Amino acid sequence: MVRKILLQESDIPTHWYNVQADMPNPMLPPLHPGTKQPIGPEDLAPLFPMELIKQEVSQERWIEIPEEVRDVYKLWRPTPLFRAWNLEKMLDTPAKIYYKYEGVSPAGSHKPNTAVAQVYYNKAEGVKRLTTETGAGQWGSALSFACNQFGLDLEVFMVKISYHQKPYRKVMMNTWGATVIASPSDQTNAGRQILAESPDSPGSLGIAISEAVERAATNDDTKYSLGSVLNHVLTHQTVLGLEAVKQMEMAGDFPDIVVAPFGGGSNFAGISFPFLRFNLTEGKKVRCIAAEPASCPKLTKGEFRYDFGDTVGMTPLIPMYTLGHQFVPAPIHAGGLRYHGAGAIVSQLLKDQLIEAQALQQLECFEAGIKFAQAEGVIAAPEATHGIAVVIREALKAKEEGVPKTILFNLCGHGYFDMSAYADYFDGKLEDHHLSDEELHQYLNILDTPSVA
Ligand SMILES: *Cc1c(COP(=O)(O)O)cnc(C)c1O
Repeated sequence: MVRKILLQESDIPTHWYNVQADMPNPMLPPLHPGTKQPIGPEDLAPLFPMELIKQEVSQERWIEIPEEVRDVYKLWRPTPLFRAWNLEKMLDTPAKIYYKYEGVSPAGSHKPNTAVAQVYYNKAEGVKRLTTETGAGQWGSALSFACNQFGLDLEVFMVKISYHQKPYRKVMMNTWGATVIASPSDQTNAGRQILAESPDSPGSLGIAISEAVERAATNDDTKYSLGSVLNHVLTHQTVLGLEAVKQMEMAGDFPDIVVAPFGGGSNFAGISFPFLRFNLTEGKKVRCIAAEPASCPKLTKGEFRYDFGDTVGMTPLIPMYTLGHQFVPAPIHAGGLRYHGAGAIVSQLLKDQLIEAQALQQLECFEAGIKFAQAEGVIAAPEATHGIAVVIREALKAKEEGVPKTILFNLCGHGYFDMSAYADYFDGKLEDHHLSDEELHQYLNILDTPSVA
């Protein structure tokens, strides 16, 4: 019985895969938030280094991973791919289930794959300090680790309520040398304005983004960094899927179905794009399924149109599936999935029916996470349990139909900082959340951003 399929350090991919090269329909261009005209590289230059702006629009199929980035990757990559024998047995399914495990990274998720790359390019262009926002702290901790590796300063604006409720992620960021500021803060105009209006504001991701962006836009040596949604972020994550392609080959298998949880699209892109490539270029028919929360169902119930990436409306307009940038998802425990929109690439692929999506209630997800922990040992991040729930659905369907499907999913992070979520589940405090049509359309109806043909 082979449980895990391991690669050598020398197997770490030398290039990221850029799916833009193989998409049948190109994406619509991002638009300037003020003029509503397509933006150029110079519009993004105050916030991002030029190399990342180039990658954002690159049509090159393969983008070389710098040696310095691969050297840091070696601290935890290649990551293992497991055959989930115990889960298969527990479900009594003819399906074969495999999972790629990204929880072995220092920050405990897939996010360092892009954090390390982004910090490297910033440093190469002379940037001394980065700013970012974080909700529950997963992105903030990944970027703290990466900045520490390359000797850059980092300021993290952390949503105030999480800052007080999730102190351990903050301590993690401090350990890697980052400064963590509860947002709204008195350190920026945006923060001071909010505090003047509501001194007790618990903060939000939108406010934290405004603070971090203001800092970068007003300091020459400081740039801003984002952990999902953008094209270059999705591309960096393909390092994990490219490893998985090799590992599935070593296992003598090829997936019929690839599954990942979906927040802004980065870990989904990471595992699925390298397999989707076989559909786009070799006529394979892998089903790639994004698993989103029913309380924030942009892929299954959102609208494809231009919308802002942030709540406030400062970012470029992105062609995306969205619930409206002012949509406030119910406070479910999978914080990383509570985002109103989806990245442009994933949105175009969904529109072209090249990928699929399923929405799940949180009780089904926690049940799936507990089954998985009892079968395979790892306690998954609440985000990751959404993927596990889809895997269980598909494995049971395979059993019903008597078809031995091969399923691969991305276990994108462990849940060891999320025990309070599991505690709430065990205490019966969690509920499913059914969005009414009214709630669903409330913010779409008032959107005045450009629609698409
Ligand atoms: C951030 C995060 C997500 C959601 O972000 P994506 O960009 O969609 O991957 C999902 N799972 C974990 C563990 C995360 O940290």
